[in-house]
Amino acid sequence: MEYRRLGRTELQVSLLGVGGGYTMLLDVERGVELYQRAYEQGVNYFDGRYGDSSLKIRPIIKQDRGHFVVGTKTAETTAEGALHRIDEDLKELDTDYLDVFYLRSYYHDVLEKHLAPGGSMEGVLKARKQGKVHFIGLSGHGDLSVLAKGIETGQVDVVIFPLNIVRREALQQLIPVAQEHDVGLVVMKPVSVGMIPARLALPWLANQPIHTMAPGMSSLEHLEMDVAALERDRMALSPEEEAEVEHYRQELDRETCRICDRICKAACDEGLMIPPLIHHDVFYNQYRSLGLEGFLNHPHAPWVKRAAESHFARRLAMLQSCTRCGKCEEVCPHDLPIMDMFEVMLEDHLPLIEALKKRDWAAKYKDAKSPYLQISRATGGAK
Ligand code: SF4
Ligand code: SF4
Repeated sequence: MEYRRLGRTELQVSLLGVGGGYTMLLDVERGVELYQRAYEQGVNYFDGRYGDSSLKIRPIIKQDRGHFVVGTKTAETTAEGALHRIDEDLKELDTDYLDVFYLRSYYHDVLEKHLAPGGSMEGVLKARKQGKVHFIGLSGHGDLSVLAKGIETGQVDVVIFPLNIVRREALQQLIPVAQEHDVGLVVMKPVSVGMIPARLALPWLANQPIHTMAPGMSSLEHLEMDVAALERDRMALSPEEEAEVEHYRQELDRETCRICDRICKAACDEGLMIPPLIHHDVFYNQYRSLGLEGFLNHPHAPWVKRAAESHFARRLAMLQSCTRCGKCEEVCPHDLPIMDMFEVMLEDHLPLIEALKKRDWAAKYKDAKSPYLQISRATGGAK
């Protein structure tokens, strides 16, 4: 596994990391197994703070704390709130320090709150003085000019942001500024929520000026595929692969939501949250990539099985409440065919909900606790 220096942090990170968004769907035992296998494969960057991901990460990092680079996040915008979250993370991970603590900075007004007097940046700077946090990060997934602006403050060591074959705006909007300040570059959504095959997506990214990439993984097979994609003699893409990259870019350009959600939300009289419906709902993405049988047979955590039917029923109700007024499509800067995408989902939700009803998981797993409650119990109170 190749290692790169994470910008000015001097931390050495494996080119492949593990994102936490999908390991959250596994029970603790299987999650620990996945992180352990990742460790054995040379992976040392773990992106945390999703559901009970800390419980899965902590027995692994205990084996050699200094080897691992763990990042956690908060959306808190006050100093007090950020400090509280840092203490929670330390407790959940059973560690003395966090390598990188990211402030979620999706919009300019949120960044301003982080940076204002009494804002979360003050809290993180205090935690850094206390040794609880080693490096400060910003996390963003829509308007990347927010992260670029944050970097200009000189206080930011690392950024985590989307970059993939389809979404390349970071190459112009963010990476040059980050390079100027020697800021660490961690990529999220490298396979664009499962829409691009890892064998192509990951080597393409390895050729970009980034330090690590953290795809979501929900099985050992996923992990092995990702590792295999980066363990090749020659990372440069062949002409055939370049052609395939271009094919995916063109094919997915008008299907890929850029999560600039305030634009379409403001246009929708029904108040529908379009990006989670069409792009970044972990349950739906899991279904989309595994298919019906794959989803039903995947070793999901009991709480996922309990929640699946109601989750998809809620989504279906939202899709059905769309009046097909077309206002969201008029404002979408990327010309996404949102209403057609809804039609596809209306069709594929019905068989899944029917199959989930037949399995009766909601009743069978009714006592399965959410990961947040499991964390609370395991850490003696921290949420
Ligand atoms: S649907 Fe279009 S406007 Fe809405 S968040 Fe996605 S890309 Fe942006
Ligand atoms: S088409 Fe549907 S999602 Fe789009 S603005 Fe109209 S009601 Fe909202």
